[in-house]
Amino acid sequence: MREEEVEVAIKVVVVGNGAVGKSSMIQRYCKGIFTRDYKKTIGVDFLERQIEIDGEEVRLMLWDTAGQEEFDAITKAYYRGAQACVLTFSTLDRESFEAIESWKKKVEDEVGEIVMVLVQNKIDLIDDAVVHTSEAEELAKKLKLRFYPTSVKENLNVEEVFRYLATKYLERL
Ligand code: GDP
Repeated sequence: MREEEVEVAIKVVVVGNGAVGKSSMIQRYCKGIFTRDYKKTIGVDFLERQIEIDGEEVRLMLWDTAGQEEFDAITKAYYRGAQACVLTFSTLDRESFEAIESWKKKVEDEVGEIVMVLVQNKIDLIDDAVVHTSEAEELAKKLKLRFYPTSVKENLNVEEVFRYLATKYLERL
């Protein structure tokens, strides 16, 4: 049994190819904002937000790669101690979808099996989709992951992604 009143903190890493919307997702979830400007957060390791799950206070620390993914040089510090992971790809970027399994492996090689979720972002641009939701659902089934289509822009399913991770994490404690 866990003690009452003890705050649970979860380190969440948001991974995926560049420009799929990782920084935007973190900003949206932690600050409630969305910006069209492609600007990288520099010097910030993570943003955080506290939520309540079944009466339990949970602090989510969302780590941003700050653009390092493009150089395949994400430091070990980024992954260290991660307890949950968002595997992200974009509706408009086929390569980002095909990279999901290698992102999953990269995370698992560093920190072992942790709670993960598959996210298809930019679902608001579904009319221009190069990856269909049915393909993502198939991949999720194969990898035994929960799948969420999201729009960070329209604030669709973003809350649900992190609530799911936190709930799953608590179940494992
Ligand atoms: P990162 O490199 O994965 O961190 O991606 P960014 O968060 O920098 O986002 C890349 C671009 O996609 C930015 O111009 C964002 O404004 C845009 N973007 C992010 N999420 C969405 C979304 O859900 N819908 C649309 N239309 N654009 C998005």
